[in-house]
Amino acid sequence: RKAAYAAMRDIEPFTRDGTRIEVMMNAGLRDDVAMLAVSGADGIGLYRTEFQFLVSAALPQRDRQTRLYRDVLETAGSKKVIFRTVDIGGDKSLPYLASETSRQDENPAMGWRALRLALEREGLMKVQARALLEGAAGYELNVMFPMVSEVWEFDAAKAVFEGQLEFLKKHKHKLPSVIRYGVMLEVPSLAECLDLLLPKVSFISIGTNDLTQFLFAADRANPMLAERYDWLSPSILRFLRRVVLGCTGHPVDLGVCGEMGGRRLEALALIGIGIRRLSITPAAVGPIKELIRKVDTREIGEAMAGWLANPPENMRAALLEWAEA
Ligand code: PEP
Ligand code: MG
Repeated sequence: RKAAYAAMRDIEPFTRDGTRIEVMMNAGLRDDVAMLAVSGADGIGLYRTEFQFLVSAALPQRDRQTRLYRDVLETAGSKKVIFRTVDIGGDKSLPYLASETSRQDENPAMGWRALRLALEREGLMKVQARALLEGAAGYELNVMFPMVSEVWEFDAAKAVFEGQLEFLKKHKHKLPSVIRYGVMLEVPSLAECLDLLLPKVSFISIGTNDLTQFLFAADRANPMLAERYDWLSPSILRFLRRVVLGCTGHPVDLGVCGEMGGRRLEALALIGIGIRRLSITPAAVGPIKELIRKVDTREIGEAMAGWLANPPENMRAALLEWAEA
């Protein structure tokens, strides 16, 4: 297994027609970061900061958060890391916030979670902002907000960071070399306001796990529904295609960071609709890089355009046949 990893580690993910696809990985624990070197991923496209909160018995103190972020950046070295602010609540409930989060939500995934919770527990958000800004001193800091449903939520979250930044400047602390702000696009309402969002953000990462759950109104944690809807359904692919088109011509970095991108046919479909950055589970990085070497973006682009206009009865079968031809 190790040898197989090593062989794939150094593959440069260029398509046959010379398009470089960025292949990043998702992480959440300090130890995951070591997989950057093992897998040869381009960076960490999604660092789920809530993992530290989930494994702690109490709210992690600011210095512990700062140390973790610093460690992650030091280990990543020159590779880019995108830190997502906490996505707690919902299915990731915390014992020390339980009284509040379980008072509660009949539909936790659609409830008081992620940025919704963070914007109201401003103390929590301020502490994390300060920890990220200090932890990234001297480094590029990429901050991503989860579950943004309306544009003002992005503004409000960014303002918390800017407030902390002012403080650090005033006290002559060392700052990050660059700060970029972006969002997860995982709530469909945000896609309808893409034009309003684009001038404000540096990057957008589509979270297909939550997006699918909200598009289909199908609980992602319910095993009875796990096989019911396909990531390769026209509903999802058309939706994603509209987002890609909506971003065309804007200097925004658009990518996908849901589990979808780590699967072969799904990755192929995503490249076909114009996605050029994937952030996926570390084990999938090698296999997806291998796949990319075999793809021609013009050919798959044309095929997908046809299938989106006239969906085949079974998109999965159509893609599989295309891939094997
Ligand atoms: C997503 O929703 O697609 C995502 C990447 O984030 P999470 O799985 O942590 O909700
Ligand atoms: Mg999500």
